[in-house]
Amino acid sequence: PAPAGRTADSKRTIAPVTDETTPVLEIRNLHKAFGDLEVIKGVDITARKGDVVSLIGSSGSGKSTILRCANLLEDSQQGEIIFKGEPVKWRGTGLHRHPADFGQVLRIRTNLSMVFQQFNLWSHMTILQNVMEAPLTVLRRPRAEVESAARAYLDKVGIGEKHDAYPAQLSGGQQQRAAIARALCMEPEALLFDEPTSALDPELEQEVIRVIKDLAAEGRTMLIVTHDMKMAADISSHTVFLHQGLIEEEGAPKDLFGAPKSERLRQFLSSTV
Ligand code: ADP
Ligand code: MG
Repeated sequence: PAPAGRTADSKRTIAPVTDETTPVLEIRNLHKAFGDLEVIKGVDITARKGDVVSLIGSSGSGKSTILRCANLLEDSQQGEIIFKGEPVKWRGTGLHRHPADFGQVLRIRTNLSMVFQQFNLWSHMTILQNVMEAPLTVLRRPRAEVESAARAYLDKVGIGEKHDAYPAQLSGGQQQRAAIARALCMEPEALLFDEPTSALDPELEQEVIRVIKDLAAEGRTMLIVTHDMKMAADISSHTVFLHQGLIEEEGAPKDLFGAPKSERLRQFLSSTV
Protein backbone atom coordinates (compact mmCIF):
# COMPACT_ATOMS: atom_id res chain seq x y z
CA PRO A 1 0.00 0.00 0.00
CA ALA A 2 1.03 3.60 -0.57
CA PRO A 3 2.59 5.30 2.43
CA ALA A 4 0.21 7.47 4.43
CA GLY A 5 -0.31 10.89 2.90
CA ARG A 6 0.79 9.80 -0.56
CA THR A 7 -1.25 8.66 -3.49
CA ALA A 8 -0.41 5.33 -5.06
CA ASP A 9 0.22 7.07 -8.38
CA SER A 10 3.31 9.18 -7.81
CA LYS A 11 2.69 11.26 -10.96
CA ARG A 12 -0.60 12.57 -9.68
CA THR A 13 -0.58 16.17 -8.54
CA ILE A 14 -0.76 16.17 -4.80
CA ALA A 15 -3.57 18.38 -3.59
CA PRO A 16 -2.53 21.33 -1.44
CA VAL A 17 -2.65 20.57 2.24
CA THR A 18 -5.72 22.17 3.72
CA ASP A 19 -7.11 21.99 7.20
CA GLU A 20 -9.27 24.15 9.42
CA THR A 21 -6.47 26.70 9.73
CA THR A 22 -5.84 27.14 6.01
CA PRO A 23 -7.46 30.44 5.03
CA VAL A 24 -10.22 30.30 2.45
CA LEU A 25 -8.74 33.37 0.80
CA GLU A 26 -5.42 35.12 1.16
CA ILE A 27 -4.53 38.27 -0.69
CA ARG A 28 -0.81 38.89 -0.37
CA ASN A 29 1.06 42.03 -1.29
CA LEU A 30 -1.45 42.95 -3.97
CA HIS A 31 -0.47 45.69 -6.38
CA LYS A 32 -2.71 46.99 -9.12
CA ALA A 33 -2.30 49.86 -11.55
CA PHE A 34 -4.52 51.14 -14.31
CA GLY A 35 -1.98 52.51 -16.76
CA ASP A 36 0.16 54.92 -14.76
CA LEU A 37 -2.35 55.13 -11.94
CA GLU A 38 -1.29 52.90 -9.08
CA VAL A 39 -4.46 52.17 -7.12
CA ILE A 40 -3.48 49.21 -4.90
CA LYS A 41 -0.03 49.52 -3.40
CA GLY A 42 0.64 46.34 -1.43
CA VAL A 43 -2.40 45.00 0.39
CA ASP A 44 -2.68 41.82 2.49
CA ILE A 45 -6.05 40.42 3.53
CA THR A 46 -6.78 36.99 4.98
CA ALA A 47 -10.19 35.40 5.39
CA ARG A 48 -10.47 32.13 7.31
CA LYS A 49 -13.55 29.98 7.39
CA GLY A 50 -16.36 31.86 9.10
CA ASP A 51 -14.59 35.23 8.99
CA VAL A 52 -16.57 38.29 8.03
CA VAL A 53 -14.03 40.81 6.82
CA SER A 54 -15.32 44.29 6.09
CA LEU A 55 -13.48 46.74 3.88
CA ILE A 56 -14.14 50.40 4.52
CA GLY A 57 -12.62 53.59 3.16
CA SER A 58 -13.53 56.61 1.12
CA SER A 59 -14.60 56.47 -2.49
CA GLY A 60 -11.65 55.73 -4.76
CA SER A 61 -9.54 54.14 -2.02
CA GLY A 62 -9.47 50.84 -3.97
CA LYS A 63 -12.07 48.66 -2.23
CA SER A 64 -13.84 47.43 -5.38
CA THR A 65 -10.53 46.85 -7.15
CA ILE A 66 -9.41 44.50 -4.38
CA LEU A 67 -12.61 42.44 -4.67
CA ARG A 68 -12.34 42.42 -8.44
CA CYS A 69 -8.73 41.20 -8.26
CA ALA A 70 -9.70 38.48 -5.76
CA ASN A 71 -12.44 37.33 -8.13
CA LEU A 72 -10.09 37.55 -11.15
CA LEU A 73 -12.19 40.20 -12.85
CA GLU A 74 -8.95 42.19 -12.90
CA ASP A 75 -5.41 40.97 -13.13
CA SER A 76 -2.73 42.50 -10.95
CA GLN A 77 0.87 43.55 -11.46
CA GLN A 78 2.24 42.00 -8.32
CA GLY A 79 1.14 39.88 -5.40
CA GLU A 80 -0.75 36.68 -4.88
CA ILE A 81 -4.30 35.47 -4.58
CA ILE A 82 -4.31 32.20 -2.65
CA PHE A 83 -7.49 30.16 -2.54
CA LYS A 84 -7.54 27.41 0.10
CA GLY A 85 -3.78 27.16 0.09
CA GLU A 86 -3.48 27.15 -3.68
CA PRO A 87 -1.85 30.18 -5.32
CA VAL A 88 -3.88 31.34 -8.30
CA LYS A 89 -1.77 31.97 -11.37
CA TRP A 90 -3.38 33.45 -14.39
CA ARG A 91 -2.43 35.38 -17.45
CA GLY A 92 -4.59 38.12 -18.87
CA THR A 93 -8.27 38.88 -18.41
CA GLY A 94 -11.37 38.55 -20.58
CA LEU A 95 -10.59 37.72 -24.20
CA HIS A 96 -6.88 37.94 -23.46
CA ARG A 97 -7.07 35.21 -20.87
CA HIS A 98 -4.82 32.23 -21.49
CA PRO A 99 -7.04 29.22 -22.32
CA ALA A 100 -5.08 27.03 -19.92
CA ASP A 101 -6.31 29.19 -17.04
CA PHE A 102 -10.04 28.85 -17.64
CA GLY A 103 -10.42 25.96 -15.19
CA GLN A 104 -8.85 27.93 -12.41
CA VAL A 105 -10.90 31.03 -13.15
CA LEU A 106 -14.03 28.93 -13.05
CA ARG A 107 -13.02 27.48 -9.70
CA ILE A 108 -12.43 30.94 -8.24
CA ARG A 109 -15.60 32.49 -9.67
CA THR A 110 -17.65 29.58 -8.37
CA ASN A 111 -16.11 29.64 -4.94
CA LEU A 112 -15.85 33.38 -4.39
CA SER A 113 -19.31 34.36 -5.48
CA MET A 114 -19.81 38.07 -5.93
CA VAL A 115 -22.78 40.33 -5.16
CA PHE A 116 -22.63 43.72 -6.85
CA GLN A 117 -24.01 47.12 -5.95
CA GLN A 118 -26.24 47.16 -9.04
CA PHE A 119 -27.52 43.56 -8.58
CA ASN A 120 -26.62 42.66 -12.21
CA LEU A 121 -29.60 40.34 -12.67
CA TRP A 122 -30.44 39.25 -16.22
CA SER A 123 -33.50 41.29 -17.13
CA HIS A 124 -34.90 38.80 -19.66
CA MET A 125 -34.95 35.93 -17.18
CA THR A 126 -37.29 35.29 -14.27
CA ILE A 127 -35.91 35.38 -10.76
CA LEU A 128 -35.83 31.58 -10.60
CA GLN A 129 -34.05 31.37 -13.97
CA ASN A 130 -31.53 33.97 -12.77
CA VAL A 131 -30.69 31.86 -9.74
CA MET A 132 -30.54 28.61 -11.72
CA GLU A 133 -28.55 29.83 -14.70
CA ALA A 134 -24.94 29.50 -13.57
CA PRO A 135 -25.31 26.23 -11.62
CA LEU A 136 -26.95 24.73 -14.72
CA THR A 137 -24.78 26.09 -17.50
CA VAL A 138 -21.46 26.68 -15.77
CA LEU A 139 -21.41 23.90 -13.19
CA ARG A 140 -23.65 21.55 -15.21
CA ARG A 141 -25.49 20.34 -12.16
CA PRO A 142 -28.74 18.38 -12.68
CA ARG A 143 -31.79 20.58 -13.30
CA ALA A 144 -34.03 19.08 -10.62
CA GLU A 145 -31.37 19.47 -7.97
CA VAL A 146 -30.58 23.05 -9.03
CA GLU A 147 -34.25 24.01 -9.08
CA SER A 148 -34.94 22.76 -5.58
CA ALA A 149 -31.80 24.48 -4.27
CA ALA A 150 -32.74 27.72 -6.07
CA ARG A 151 -36.24 27.68 -4.57
CA ALA A 152 -34.81 27.01 -1.12
CA TYR A 153 -32.39 29.96 -1.42
CA LEU A 154 -35.16 32.26 -2.65
CA ASP A 155 -37.21 31.22 0.39
CA LYS A 156 -34.22 31.81 2.60
CA VAL A 157 -33.86 35.42 1.44
CA GLY A 158 -37.61 35.91 1.78
CA ILE A 159 -38.72 36.15 -1.85
CA GLY A 160 -39.81 32.59 -2.57
CA GLU A 161 -43.16 33.78 -3.94
CA LYS A 162 -41.42 36.01 -6.51
CA HIS A 163 -39.79 33.19 -8.47
CA ASP A 164 -41.80 33.83 -11.65
CA ALA A 165 -41.36 37.61 -11.62
CA TYR A 166 -38.86 39.44 -13.80
CA PRO A 167 -36.26 41.68 -12.13
CA ALA A 168 -37.99 44.89 -13.27
CA GLN A 169 -41.12 43.81 -11.37
CA LEU A 170 -39.22 43.72 -8.06
CA SER A 171 -38.09 46.43 -5.70
CA GLY A 172 -34.37 47.11 -5.42
CA GLY A 173 -34.23 45.29 -2.09
CA GLN A 174 -35.93 42.24 -3.58
CA GLN A 175 -33.61 42.31 -6.59
CA GLN A 176 -30.57 42.42 -4.34
CA ARG A 177 -31.93 39.52 -2.29
CA ALA A 178 -32.40 37.59 -5.55
CA ALA A 179 -28.78 38.37 -6.42
CA ILE A 180 -27.72 37.00 -3.02
CA ALA A 181 -29.77 33.82 -3.64
CA ARG A 182 -28.06 33.53 -7.01
CA ALA A 183 -24.63 33.79 -5.37
CA LEU A 184 -25.60 31.22 -2.72
CA CYS A 185 -26.85 28.77 -5.33
CA MET A 186 -23.25 28.37 -6.56
CA GLU A 187 -22.52 26.84 -3.12
CA PRO A 188 -19.44 29.06 -2.81
CA GLU A 189 -16.74 28.86 -0.15
CA ALA A 190 -17.07 32.61 0.40
CA LEU A 191 -19.24 35.51 -0.64
CA LEU A 192 -17.84 38.83 -1.84
CA PHE A 193 -20.14 41.81 -1.47
CA ASP A 194 -19.38 45.14 -3.16
CA GLU A 195 -21.51 47.84 -1.50
CA PRO A 196 -24.59 45.61 -1.53
CA THR A 197 -26.89 48.22 0.00
CA SER A 198 -25.68 51.51 -1.43
CA ALA A 199 -28.04 51.54 -4.43
CA LEU A 200 -31.05 51.09 -2.14
CA ASP A 201 -33.42 53.44 -0.37
CA PRO A 202 -32.90 53.36 3.40
CA GLU A 203 -36.05 51.33 4.11
CA LEU A 204 -35.05 48.71 1.51
CA GLU A 205 -31.51 48.66 2.78
CA GLN A 206 -32.66 47.07 6.02
CA GLU A 207 -34.15 43.97 4.39
CA VAL A 208 -30.85 43.28 2.63
CA ILE A 209 -28.83 43.96 5.79
CA ARG A 210 -31.01 41.44 7.63
CA VAL A 211 -30.19 38.76 5.05
CA ILE A 212 -26.46 39.53 5.26
CA LYS A 213 -26.62 39.39 9.06
CA ASP A 214 -28.29 35.97 8.88
CA LEU A 215 -25.51 34.75 6.59
CA ALA A 216 -22.89 36.04 9.03
CA ALA A 217 -24.66 34.31 11.92
CA GLU A 218 -24.61 31.05 9.94
CA GLY A 219 -20.83 31.24 9.84
CA ARG A 220 -20.47 32.05 6.15
CA THR A 221 -17.11 33.39 5.08
CA MET A 222 -17.59 36.86 3.65
CA LEU A 223 -15.64 39.84 2.40
CA ILE A 224 -17.86 42.90 2.46
CA VAL A 225 -17.15 46.32 1.02
CA THR A 226 -19.60 48.64 2.65
CA HIS A 227 -20.32 52.26 3.45
CA ASP A 228 -22.59 51.07 6.24
CA MET A 229 -20.46 51.43 9.36
CA LYS A 230 -23.20 50.12 11.61
CA MET A 231 -23.49 46.88 9.64
CA ALA A 232 -19.70 46.57 9.51
CA ALA A 233 -19.47 47.07 13.28
CA ASP A 234 -22.31 44.60 13.94
CA ILE A 235 -21.24 41.65 11.82
CA SER A 236 -17.51 41.82 11.08
CA SER A 237 -14.90 39.67 12.71
CA HIS A 238 -12.24 41.92 11.21
CA THR A 239 -12.35 45.37 9.65
CA VAL A 240 -9.87 46.84 7.19
CA PHE A 241 -9.67 50.58 6.61
CA LEU A 242 -8.22 51.40 3.23
CA HIS A 243 -6.70 54.73 2.31
CA GLN A 244 -5.33 55.44 -1.17
CA GLY A 245 -4.60 51.82 -1.96
CA LEU A 246 -2.98 50.92 1.36
CA ILE A 247 -4.28 49.52 4.62
CA GLU A 248 -4.15 52.42 7.01
CA GLU A 249 -5.57 50.57 9.99
CA GLU A 250 -7.19 47.18 10.64
CA GLY A 251 -8.39 45.09 13.51
CA ALA A 252 -11.41 44.09 15.53
CA PRO A 253 -14.38 46.32 14.71
CA LYS A 254 -14.78 47.35 18.35
CA ASP A 255 -11.26 48.81 18.25
CA LEU A 256 -11.52 50.38 14.81
CA PHE A 257 -14.86 51.99 15.38
CA GLY A 258 -14.52 52.48 19.14
CA ALA A 259 -10.93 53.63 19.40
CA PRO A 260 -9.48 54.49 15.99
CA LYS A 261 -5.74 55.11 16.17
CA SER A 262 -4.99 56.90 12.94
CA GLU A 263 -6.05 60.45 12.28
CA ARG A 264 -7.27 59.45 8.79
CA LEU A 265 -9.60 56.81 10.17
CA ARG A 266 -10.88 59.26 12.78
CA GLN A 267 -11.61 61.76 10.03
CA PHE A 268 -13.22 59.15 7.84
CA LEU A 269 -15.50 57.93 10.62
CA SER A 270 -16.56 61.43 11.55
CA SER A 271 -17.41 62.13 7.89
CA THR A 272 -19.74 59.11 7.64
CA VAL A 273 -23.11 59.14 9.30
P1 ADP B 1 -13.56 52.24 -4.33
O1 ADP B 1 -14.31 50.98 -4.63
O2 ADP B 1 -12.87 52.22 -3.00
O3 ADP B 1 -14.42 53.46 -4.47
P2 ADP B 1 -12.14 51.61 -6.75
O4 ADP B 1 -11.45 50.35 -6.46
O5 ADP B 1 -13.37 51.55 -7.56
O6 ADP B 1 -12.39 52.40 -5.38
O7 ADP B 1 -11.15 52.59 -7.51
C1 ADP B 1 -9.84 52.87 -7.05
C2 ADP B 1 -9.17 53.80 -8.04
O8 ADP B 1 -8.97 53.11 -9.26
C3 ADP B 1 -9.97 55.04 -8.39
O9 ADP B 1 -9.06 56.10 -8.55
C4 ADP B 1 -10.61 54.68 -9.69
O10 ADP B 1 -10.87 55.82 -10.46
C5 ADP B 1 -9.57 53.82 -10.33
N1 ADP B 1 -10.12 52.82 -11.26
C6 ADP B 1 -10.97 51.81 -10.93
N2 ADP B 1 -11.25 51.05 -11.99
C7 ADP B 1 -10.59 51.59 -13.05
C8 ADP B 1 -10.46 51.27 -14.43
N3 ADP B 1 -11.08 50.20 -14.97
N4 ADP B 1 -9.68 52.05 -15.20
C9 ADP B 1 -9.02 53.10 -14.68
N5 ADP B 1 -9.08 53.46 -13.39
C10 ADP B 1 -9.85 52.73 -12.57
MG1 MG C 1 -16.30 50.67 -5.11
